[in-house]
Amino acid sequence: MKSFNVPLIYRSPLITAIKSRRKAEDRMKKDFTPTLLNFGPVQVFLARHFGFCYGVENAIEISFKAIDQNPGKRIFLLSEMIHNPHVNRDLQERGVRFIMDTHGRQLIPWEALHSDDIVVIPAFGTTLEIENHLHTIGIEPLRYNTTCPFVERVWNKAEAIGNKNYTVIVHGKPGHEETRATFSHSQHHTPTVVVKNIAEARKLAAYIEGHRTPGHFYEEFAGQFSEGFDVGKDLQRVGVVNQTTMLATETQAIADYIRQVMMDTYQLDESTIGERFADTRDTLCYATNDNQSAVLGLMKEDADLAIVVGGYNSSNTSHLVELCEQKLPTYFISSEEKIISPTEILHWDFHRQQELCTQNFLPAKEPIRLMLTSGASCPDALVEGVLRKILSFYSLENKIDEMIRQYQVEVSN
Ligand code: SF4
Repeated sequence: MKSFNVPLIYRSPLITAIKSRRKAEDRMKKDFTPTLLNFGPVQVFLARHFGFCYGVENAIEISFKAIDQNPGKRIFLLSEMIHNPHVNRDLQERGVRFIMDTHGRQLIPWEALHSDDIVVIPAFGTTLEIENHLHTIGIEPLRYNTTCPFVERVWNKAEAIGNKNYTVIVHGKPGHEETRATFSHSQHHTPTVVVKNIAEARKLAAYIEGHRTPGHFYEEFAGQFSEGFDVGKDLQRVGVVNQTTMLATETQAIADYIRQVMMDTYQLDESTIGERFADTRDTLCYATNDNQSAVLGLMKEDADLAIVVGGYNSSNTSHLVELCEQKLPTYFISSEEKIISPTEILHWDFHRQQELCTQNFLPAKEPIRLMLTSGASCPDALVEGVLRKILSFYSLENKIDEMIRQYQVEVSN
């Protein structure tokens, strides 16, 4: 896979050395067991896959290039480039301004933009409406376009389904930038509706089955269906695509469920299901699959707690948290700054959308056994920072350099 020019401040010498070694030993990515970093009183299970993905590194490289290539010009990002506050803050400190917030609320009015401004499209992509708007202002939106190719692949899939006269059901978070962009591109080709989870898929199925009067649909799915959506007609042939970062198990469950509903409603079988249900595989990206599989690998280990590092609004990170929570106490933190002391940690509860403070998060025993991973938009340097902070409570931080040397030697051998 292509490598990118990402600022060194985001790298971690230790994690780079570990990843290089694991990659050399497992080029086909079949081994999802974690790496055990044994510091004696602290034992850390580091996930096999985590951290910056292809799309994030691509976005960082293009954004920093846009700054370097355009001295003296005003540079804007449509919204957060990726869901990581540290990377976004670094860009802002270099003068980049955000036109919208992560929910699509306007921070800078379109009228304030000029044709010689630079606008960078974030990794999530953007809507056709916004692209057209930029064209109207005289700004070429695709000049610095960091839309991830794995997101564009979803758009292509939606278009392909639409061209065969299927309605597209998008499994995604309706307010998320990527799902808003996918919805916009899909509705350009075919009627489109967004479901955020299996509960909403069941609600939609009630209209497919004719168990619920069509009139309720427009209220129940307000803001989640394309203009002119005809619930009586547009749910007779459907296909499912996903936001790239959803939970793999739920994504599969939704596709299987809708497929079964179409079979039962129209008395179809395996040979005829294609008449009503587009035969698609999920459109999760490789990083989502790898990182979730790596967490499943982590969960086979016996540990006391898990720490997941990432931006609080990061969808892919929240799904890693969701998986870990099924097994053990899990702390979702944005950086080591959230670890206040050996007894106190601030962490994000994404279910209730609030930061909590937990006491005595580290067990009073030795060794402690800790699972550690991060989302696809989290710099490895932040994960190393968390590791260093935990080790400092046991006066073990000097062991990191030893560990780096050990892995670097093993890689060079
Ligand atoms: S998480 Fe997946 S879709 Fe999103 S930027 Fe990374 S590789 Fe692309």
